[in-house]
Amino acid sequence: MSIQVNAIRSLFPILHQEVNGYPLIYFDNAATTQKPQVVLDALTQYYEKDNSNIHRGAHTLADRATHKYEETRESVRALIGARESAEVIFTRGTTESINLVAKTFGSKFIQKGDEILISTLEHHSNIVPWQMLCEQTGAILKVIPITDAGELVMEEFEKLLSSKTKLISIVHASNALGTINPAKKIIDAAHAVGAKVLLDGAQSASHLEVDVQELDCDFFVFSAHKLYGPTGLGVLYGKRELLEAMPPFLGGGEMIREVTFEKTTYNTIPFKFEAGTPSIAEVIAFKPALDFITSTGKTNIHLHENDLLQYAAELLQDVKGIIPVGTAAEKIAVYSFTIKGMHPFDVGQLLDAKGIAVRTGHHCTQPLMHRLGLEGTVRASFAIYNTRAEVEVFAQALAKIASLKNK
Ligand code: PMP
Repeated sequence: MSIQVNAIRSLFPILHQEVNGYPLIYFDNAATTQKPQVVLDALTQYYEKDNSNIHRGAHTLADRATHKYEETRESVRALIGARESAEVIFTRGTTESINLVAKTFGSKFIQKGDEILISTLEHHSNIVPWQMLCEQTGAILKVIPITDAGELVMEEFEKLLSSKTKLISIVHASNALGTINPAKKIIDAAHAVGAKVLLDGAQSASHLEVDVQELDCDFFVFSAHKLYGPTGLGVLYGKRELLEAMPPFLGGGEMIREVTFEKTTYNTIPFKFEAGTPSIAEVIAFKPALDFITSTGKTNIHLHENDLLQYAAELLQDVKGIIPVGTAAEKIAVYSFTIKGMHPFDVGQLLDAKGIAVRTGHHCTQPLMHRLGLEGTVRASFAIYNTRAEVEVFAQALAKIASLKNK
């Protein structure tokens, strides 16, 4: 393993604390990751030294803030391999990015009778905006089924795809099960029938190499807070020709070229989609998070997290009562499971009592849980700063918990 986990851990102050009398083990990284000191420093420094509104060029502080804000846009462009930074739009998060596309691309290009494809694996934020759009337009939402292991049934996907399909909006990596979807195959098949593809990269952006040009996806969305960055900030990548053809999302300052009471003309991309004062501090503090990811290396991150996933699966495979949920061949480091005879919430509470933070419940994927016949699962999700020693403590704690109901 080429990464030095202890050196990495020392960059994250929050990890060095006790919870309920035990050293914190933070395994809720799919919900949000912790932030390195450089991100915290950048937030403080912005407010101490540079706080100013951007793109108004009035004075030195405004210039500094604008420059730093735009530097992050360039770093995001580099991270996802976009052709140009104008194709990178800052939003409040994955949820807002998807809603933006549903409202703008949707209102212009989706009509009655058109079909939108999603999958059983989707997060609510990649279901509800499309349902709302279908209600407004009379378009039809279709769902790609999954196998019991949590993989898309590709033959069914091909059957659902037709010239009526206008958009496929699909998760790149599942937050609930970890499944990595065959994005490139889906995109190529979609383009063959003239459909556009939105990839929900909320869970893939920090764990997998993503090159939007190579993938040829039309939209790619993710949230900064899952990439060691601040909350309240997301990204929408879109191909220039699509973003230019789409109407604006919110109206207000910054997104205009000229306003009269009779008519308003709009700014060029990306500003057309960034109405009002954005999350300036958060954007600026996202850059050191991106630098951290780049300097650590996505391949190293994926290898390390995958090692933890394999190790957890290995330690827990013979523990009586533990039932893994989601066993796709290609996964990010999400270990979802249930314990026979126990409610996931109770398992979460018992782990919390030992300082171990996991997620329990439906993970904002109620239709997926329904498909699996479950109310919810317990989910441990790993990040670059987690260790094999933590996995061992987790496995020991779980074995004890499982033994309460599984003799
Ligand atoms: N999609 C997926 C796959 C997710 O994991 C999440 C966050 N759990 C979202 C969308 C929504 O992200 P946010 O809450 O940051 O908007």
